Amino acid sequence: MYDAKRAGRTVATFDPHATKGTPVISLESDLHTALTGQEFELHYQGLFQAGARHPVAAEALLRWRHPTRGLISPADFIPLAESTGLIVPIGAWVLCEAARQAARWQATHPGLRVNVNLSARQFWAPDLLQHVTDALNASRLNPALLTLEITESVLLDVPNAAETLEQLHGLGVHLSLDDFGTGYSSLSYLHRLPLHGLKIDRSFVHDLGEGTGAAAKIVRAIILMAHALKLHVTVEGLEREVQVAFVEAVEGDYLQGYFLARPLPGPAFEQQVLGWPAPDPAQLTHRPDVP
Ligand code: C2E
Ligand code: MG
Ligand code: MG
Ligand code: MG
Repeated sequence: MYDAKRAGRTVATFDPHATKGTPVISLESDLHTALTGQEFELHYQGLFQAGARHPVAAEALLRWRHPTRGLISPADFIPLAESTGLIVPIGAWVLCEAARQAARWQATHPGLRVNVNLSARQFWAPDLLQHVTDALNASRLNPALLTLEITESVLLDVPNAAETLEQLHGLGVHLSLDDFGTGYSSLSYLHRLPLHGLKIDRSFVHDLGEGTGAAAKIVRAIILMAHALKLHVTVEGLEREVQVAFVEAVEGDYLQGYFLARPLPGPAFEQQVLGWPAPDPAQLTHRPDVP
């Protein structure tokens, strides 16, 4: 069966159960030392305003630079980080690092937002609010520039999730529902929870642009519904111009996907997405006439 998540991976993966691989228990002990060993890094993928196509946000995506296995994608270690509880300290680091980076980017791109993914296990932890507050205080980032991305599973699996969302909302951060359309929960929460937006899962994106496919109809309908509820819509996984054009035609708000930008390390994001540093005027061949 075609597995879009697997096909979409951008970094090397491995099977922890493969006979020649190291058993999962070793990966777990490696995960314990990864944080102190500074083996985690964040890559950033741009979110672009539909129409103008300029960057409005960066989604922080976690990578593990394992000393012997190389770069490991989150799909391969986040489940382990969740089951061991290590996702809580790792997630706290992600929040601090992403907020610090976003605060720095304000100098050249005032208003640029940063999105951080939270998983269900992080919602269970009593110190989530403290971790978000700490990240905001240490970075001095305007809370309104931080968006926390949560999936529907958080709403289903975590008791009192609504209460936690209200508390996060109280800090002034934005909340966005990730991978929208893949869960099985009721739509009624959309207007009951303090959400700012939703991200349509990339599984709907494949046949966009043909216009007649079921996915195109669903995407159009989700956008209409979301706008009626005053929610912003991001469409993720856009890989082709025709898909981008479709989302713009049906008035999606933000665009994300390889067609616009791949996830990149901070410095590459600055250069390729933010266009920073700006070209040295002295190096330009057509210099403006100075009166
Ligand atoms: P997500 O939040 O839905 O992130 C989108 C994923 O789709 C990313 O995979 C991204 O690299 C990939 N992607 C983006 N554009 C395209 C495209 O045009 N085509 C295809 N095929 N793929 C695209 P990634 O980085 O491997 O992350 C996978 C998931 O891991 C994320 O899904 C998120 O749920 C989770 N994750 C990533 N970073 C963190 C983190 O810091 N904390 C937590 N709790 N979860 C994280
Ligand atoms: Mg996300
Ligand atoms: Mg997503
Ligand atoms: Mg996802």
